[in-house]
Amino acid sequence: MSKRDYYEVLGVPRNAGEAEIKKAYRRMAVKHHPDKNPGDKGAEEKFKEANEAYEVLSNQEKREFYDRYGQAPGAGGFEGFGGAGGFGGVGDIFEEVFSDFFGGGGRRRQRPRAERGADILQSVEVSFEDAAFGRETTIRLNRSETCGTCRGSGGRAGSGPAECPTCRGMGEVRYQQGFFTIRRTCSHCNGEGRIISHPCETCRGHGRVPSEKTISVKIPPGIDDGSRLRLVGEGEQGRRGGPPGDLYIEVRVTPHPLFRREGNDLVCEIPVSFARVALGGTIDVPTIAGAAPLKIPPGTQTGRVFRLKGKGIADVRGRGVGDQQVRIVVVTPQKLTPRQRELLEEFAALAGDDGGVEKNFLSRVRDLFE
Ligand SMILES: [Zn+2]
Ligand SMILES: [Zn+2]
Repeated sequence: MSKRDYYEVLGVPRNAGEAEIKKAYRRMAVKHHPDKNPGDKGAEEKFKEANEAYEVLSNQEKREFYDRYGQAPGAGGFEGFGGAGGFGGVGDIFEEVFSDFFGGGGRRRQRPRAERGADILQSVEVSFEDAAFGRETTIRLNRSETCGTCRGSGGRAGSGPAECPTCRGMGEVRYQQGFFTIRRTCSHCNGEGRIISHPCETCRGHGRVPSEKTISVKIPPGIDDGSRLRLVGEGEQGRRGGPPGDLYIEVRVTPHPLFRREGNDLVCEIPVSFARVALGGTIDVPTIAGAAPLKIPPGTQTGRVFRLKGKGIADVRGRGVGDQQVRIVVVTPQKLTPRQRELLEEFAALAGDDGGVEKNFLSRVRDLFE
């Protein structure tokens, strides 16, 4: 069966403008719409024919193609022309043309559309060492999965979603209040425009069921407190064929009793006796990977910071390893044995009071105020 000429179908001349084509299409669509002509095969054919013609003639690219070759792009062996790309089918064109036709900025007829699943944020607590060296851990996740019984449709076997009778598929209801017309999202269908007449017994029409999943998560070495890991596609399931959301895992690192993190460096304070810093020597310093020797030169002051190269935390993006900063804190003895006291007194006498420290300081202060 050969196709009728598209211009003929819509009853417009070949040089008809955009507005004229649109107007002609509306006239045809209203006249032959299946809702108005139930069971009339001839009207249905004409409605389809008008839609097809309009789809081509309303698109400048497609129309030029049609004018040149006498057939619609994508038909009869022509390939690679996008075909019906951009058009979701008859419903789309129909709604597009009629959304302004119904006037008053009428909102587009609601159509259930694919919806991306929601993202999930979950936190996981790891030890300081696990954050430093990385590890694989598992988390328990509460998320909804597609209902296996109805495969997500929400309807009992053999029953599909039906148009909402309250809003007649519009997703919103209007009512008059004084001079104003109030529009409100339909509460019966929650604005979906469709309802499940016979809900699935497993999911009670939601199409999804809650489930608990165990997911394994790789904690990368060097991750810091508060960082978020993103697991693509592990969020909530999408609706009506939409893609799933993502899962974000916020990593909480348990504080360490000894180490504090500063970037990729580890910072710690090591108490050292007065005698040790005065005489110098080697002490064992704890690091995150075990004890390491640290040489203290004689006469080290309290508060001095030594660096243990490469004893910090590996950069989470693989950019080297931090250092460990060791801050020396000189501890003054609080209890002295009689012998220790004797020796210290002897030391003080030899050092002339206190080695001149206080005298020097006092003279500097005096200089400041004179
Ligand atoms: Zn179900
Ligand atoms: Zn409704």
